[in-house]
Amino acid sequence: MAGMNRRWMLVRRPEGEIAAGDLAFEEVPIRALEDGEILVRNVYLSLDPTNRIWMSDQDQYLPPVEIGQTMRGGTIGVVEASRHASFKDGDVVNPGLGGWESHTITRTASPVPRLPGVPLSAFMSVLGATGLTAWFGLIDIGKPQAGETVVVSAAAGAVGSIVGQLAKLRGCRVIGIAGGADKCAWLTGDLGFDGAIDYRSEDVGAALDRLCPNGIDVNFENVGGAIMDAVVARMNNFGRMALCGMISTYNTDGPVPGPVDFGRVLMRRLLIKGFIVIDYLPRAAEAFAELGPLVMSGQIKWKTHTVEGLENAADAVRLLFSGAHDGKLLVRVSPEPN
Ligand code: NDP
Repeated sequence: MAGMNRRWMLVRRPEGEIAAGDLAFEEVPIRALEDGEILVRNVYLSLDPTNRIWMSDQDQYLPPVEIGQTMRGGTIGVVEASRHASFKDGDVVNPGLGGWESHTITRTASPVPRLPGVPLSAFMSVLGATGLTAWFGLIDIGKPQAGETVVVSAAAGAVGSIVGQLAKLRGCRVIGIAGGADKCAWLTGDLGFDGAIDYRSEDVGAALDRLCPNGIDVNFENVGGAIMDAVVARMNNFGRMALCGMISTYNTDGPVPGPVDFGRVLMRRLLIKGFIVIDYLPRAAEAFAELGPLVMSGQIKWKTHTVEGLENAADAVRLLFSGAHDGKLLVRVSPEPN
């Protein structure tokens, strides 16, 4: 197979924030396909907070990326060559967890449907793992009921913004916690949240007291740390926490403390359930049955923040930790198919 694969390789495990030199960009020849394999030209690469976890060797839900391996990442791409009976050149596919690379060789991929008026990038966000994470965490674990109060952190992010809109559609009072006035204005102005808290400029606890006068029934937790503590301290009897992420802790090595007032879990009979979206993939159709029509009818909004060029991926992933991106963070690796 002629041509070169451009890829990011993990060189060393980050200490603290991902730094220049933790990853290296290189070109290697694309090998010949064997029977049953396809060659995918990646179009979009998803950058996710969990990339930082995969770079570490802490106890985690997948094997860590090994030093010298291509960095792991979700992609969508176009079949460029096929020795697989089910795929032909030009098919748009999701090769599953591929890598930060221009080309992926795989034996397993799923076709990506093309919906009129829906951009391909939607399948990397609201109609991809992001949407599934939001839907299963909120619906399967949070079990929001009309009239209940739902609080979501990292609320203007990819997952959080979908969570809040789904909770509003169920008749809940929805409060989002996000960084900065612009993100908070988007939540209340465009997405219909009932309130938004700028954790960079407000006391989160005091703002929760003001905005959640009846306490909190569902916490969709994306951040952990002090923000999680402030929410847990205000949860009602039989409240539910979908523990989706703890991004404030990902750059820290070692065990992460739980809610400072752990006794409240007992006194208020709270349910705290950690979850990883890959466990829900066999049930994906349940979520897409709601998300698909919401996207097609324009009833749900989402944003993507697309960085051009695979060579910029290592810098771009750091945006997730500064919050200096606006929407699902993607890298455009190569042009979209027609
Ligand atoms: P986002 O688009 O939400 O980007 C991450 C956001 O986190 C940033 O924009 C920033 O928002 C916020 N943030 C970063 N650092 C901090 C900090 N120290 N304190 C407070 N906020 C911070 O990414 P995703 O929607 O993809 O991910 C959101 C969360 O969901 C993450 O914790 C991620 O690990 C988790 N996740 C979990 C999955 C699962 O299967 N369990 C699957 C997918 C995501 P701001 O500007 O508002 O500070």
